[in-house]
Amino acid sequence: MSDYDAVRNYVNGEWTEPTGDESQDVLNPATGDPLSHVAFSSADDVDETVAAGQAAFETWRAAPVEERIQPLFRFKELLEANLDDIAETLVEEHGKTFAEAKGELRRGIENVEVACGMPRLMQAGHVSNAAPDIDETAVRQPLGVFAAITPFNFPGMIPLWFLPYAVASGNAFILKPSERDPLTAVKLFELVDEAGFPDGVVNLVHGGADTVNAVLEHDGIEGVSFVGSTPVAETIYEKAAANGKRVQAQGGAKNHVIVAESADLAFAAEKTVSSAFACGGERCLANDVVLVEESVYEEFVDRVVAEAEAQVVGDGLDEETTIGALITAEHERRVRDYVEAGIDEGAELVADGRDVEVAGYEDGNFLGPCVFRDVTPDMSIAREEIFGPVLGLMPAPDVDAAIDVLNESDFGNAASLFTDSGADARTFRHRAEAGNLAVNAGTAAPMAFFHFGGQKDSFFGDLHAQSEDVVRFYTDETVYIERWPDA
Ligand code: NAD
Repeated sequence: MSDYDAVRNYVNGEWTEPTGDESQDVLNPATGDPLSHVAFSSADDVDETVAAGQAAFETWRAAPVEERIQPLFRFKELLEANLDDIAETLVEEHGKTFAEAKGELRRGIENVEVACGMPRLMQAGHVSNAAPDIDETAVRQPLGVFAAITPFNFPGMIPLWFLPYAVASGNAFILKPSERDPLTAVKLFELVDEAGFPDGVVNLVHGGADTVNAVLEHDGIEGVSFVGSTPVAETIYEKAAANGKRVQAQGGAKNHVIVAESADLAFAAEKTVSSAFACGGERCLANDVVLVEESVYEEFVDRVVAEAEAQVVGDGLDEETTIGALITAEHERRVRDYVEAGIDEGAELVADGRDVEVAGYEDGNFLGPCVFRDVTPDMSIAREEIFGPVLGLMPAPDVDAAIDVLNESDFGNAASLFTDSGADARTFRHRAEAGNLAVNAGTAAPMAFFHFGGQKDSFFGDLHAQSEDVVRFYTDETVYIERWPDA
């Protein structure tokens, strides 16, 4: 059994019980054991939270920016001091490895650090003598209460793409984390509580689709940041906009890798496999489809199969494990269905993880690494997001033709190229249609001081998460002109 209490909301500086009708168990994906229970928040709970945020906003917006970042410095110290403890909870409810959990928290902390630079990030512009005797200044101002709705796959990092920036820029903030792994958010908010934000500035409400709809329909919420699957992202974008809100909605992905003839094949295979299978493939930047120049295709397939077979499937808290459990048994079935579809569509399964067994974890949601060769662009495993440890390989005549294939994808989150040619790299940078591009790296992950966002069906909106983009999302620019005729 577990030490976790039932999951609570954090509203106006107090821990409260959600009062909605629905609820669900939070399970350990590696064992199937219940860890906790999450009740969903009602529209009244959302209303109470928004009211707390609005009340807090009135004084918080007027606090000097230097004062607003002080709790963030304390929050960072607390996150550092409690990193292992949060990571352990994250592994228990998500299934990923301890190293991956610590890595995601590190990326989250980097966002807290960047948001501590808000005195600089808030600066807009000033022109003296913009017109005769007139000086003109742009002033960035907070707007009120913002909400973020986040997915299950990075429960420690993704809330921190938003929270620190929203509050340091002077807004109040509500997080609605995934109902599938809400305990990490509770851990984060225990530290929010300790960090000393004024009551009502940072709030947490748990729930599912109904809770999200209450957020989208609430007049007191200025804007919504969303990260999750494409169909939900599109709906959120439409509903939030129809209700007059700002919205940034990041969706799903299908990430392509191109391996050129000139690439270091051993390096490319290692990086591609680690990106494809780390986190059980449940990453929006995971490599999904690899296009390999024909002359090196056979060698690359062999290398990828060898790397895949060296992976260790197991409990995320076991140090040997490189691939943990999938989030739910239902999701595991969905991923297995894609493997069957790949076989039916005619791709050859050259690494078959379907019969994986993890001794002592018979009820866990495990699937070993699956690698298909001779995938074609029309197959469902080449087009649709699988979000599991499944990688497809296909030959390509050259880098240009490979870029054509990736550009036909509905998604545009990330793409990588392995090459030894600067000319290939330049062509890729200019032609590949994805928000995050990498050369000689498997995972095109931007640091916190750059924005994070995709293109095409991977993103709905304009301003992205992280850094300056999200500060612009959370603020409005007033332009102010001044003339003193006697001066
Ligand atoms: P999801 O879309 O099922 O859920 C995301 C959030 O939306 C959760 O908080 C959930 O409670 C809420 N939600 C779910 N269904 C809803 C509905 N019908 N109406 C309103 N709200 C709803 O996503 P997930 O399975 O938790 O996360 C995995 C997905 O997120 C993948 O598609 C992955 O690619 C994507 N993702 C994208 C990025 C990115 O930056 N583009 C980052 C991480 C994950």
